Amino acid sequence: MNNDLNEPAIDLLCELVRRRSVTPDDAGCQDMMRARLKPLGFRCETMQFDDVTNLWARRGGASPVLCFAGHTDVVPPGDESDWSTDPFEPIFRDGMLYARGAADMKSGLAAMIVAIEDFLGTHPDHAGSIALLITSDEEGRARDGTLKVMEALGERDEHIDWCVLGEPSSQHSLGDIVRVGRRGSLSGMLTVRGVQGHVAYPQLADNPIRRFAPVLAELHDINWDDGNEYFPPTSFQVVDVRAGIGAPNVTPGELSARFNFRYSTEWTHEELQQRVREVFDHHDIDYELDWHLSGKPFLTEPGKLIDAAQQAVTEHTGAAPELSTGGGTSDGRFISPAGVDVVELGPVNASIHKVDEHVKVDDVVTLTSMYRRILELMLLD
Ligand SMILES: [Zn+2]
Repeated sequence: MNNDLNEPAIDLLCELVRRRSVTPDDAGCQDMMRARLKPLGFRCETMQFDDVTNLWARRGGASPVLCFAGHTDVVPPGDESDWSTDPFEPIFRDGMLYARGAADMKSGLAAMIVAIEDFLGTHPDHAGSIALLITSDEEGRARDGTLKVMEALGERDEHIDWCVLGEPSSQHSLGDIVRVGRRGSLSGMLTVRGVQGHVAYPQLADNPIRRFAPVLAELHDINWDDGNEYFPPTSFQVVDVRAGIGAPNVTPGELSARFNFRYSTEWTHEELQQRVREVFDHHDIDYELDWHLSGKPFLTEPGKLIDAAQQAVTEHTGAAPELSTGGGTSDGRFISPAGVDVVELGPVNASIHKVDEHVKVDDVVTLTSMYRRILELMLLD
């Protein structure tokens, strides 16, 4: 089906979703973006790390630097026969565009490019610089993408001041939520050692399930914090517990468990680890605990960028967005630690990672206009 809307952002979105860029394959999406950016005066640099292609593009050498960030990779479509139509062929139906990546987040990418083209058409001599940081490793391991680009920029002292991430931040309608931070994510991998035995002779065994149960109960009962102005309360969840050898008359010799904290800025990950160890150490339990930190919490303080995002949204929707730190992690976790103000503003996220992913066509056009407005508010004196 053809797009007869004659909207450049929709045309570009259609071209992008036709590329089967299943993570970490960029499938030529960045080439397409580069071809649009070069004539506008962007210096485009491909940063290849392992099998991940990243694009760093910058127009101008001056500060401040306003950077749009995002990813070209998408999650796999799953069983394509579950989709109503081909996930890599854009289909227009009832004002929606259906395709894998339509919402997460190729509409954000299309809106950025067209917003920049529009803006430069009238303001080629803007203040500061415009940049784009695009990766194809957000939906996968996220090891060779934004993280590595930020390291490379840091090594050569290239600094970003403000970042707009085009991730699908909206919940019910475009711009109802702007993300100004994200909770941290800390996982614990636990092993409890005991002594395997016959269930009828517990005095000869040491059951690790019995050892762990009261610790688990205590960890669950802790009110970690009440959150704060920007963050919901820290949550502790056990995601996996394993023990037992499958026989009804044998108590296990070992237990393993995994748990995860989504935590607010009331804690550092070191403090959380310390507090958990204290709980364990108050019990008689032989354990080993390993940690994996997937992302520290980050928060953008009120200031020019948040003001601009709020104003751009309000002018288009008539309502002020809610500033939130909810949801999962995003690549903002790699950008923010370099002292960058980060906001996430993108389309409605209800269908992301699902069969029949879609985006409202009008929202892509409006999002383009919002990004253009942010450029005006940030880079014109
Ligand atoms: Zn995404």
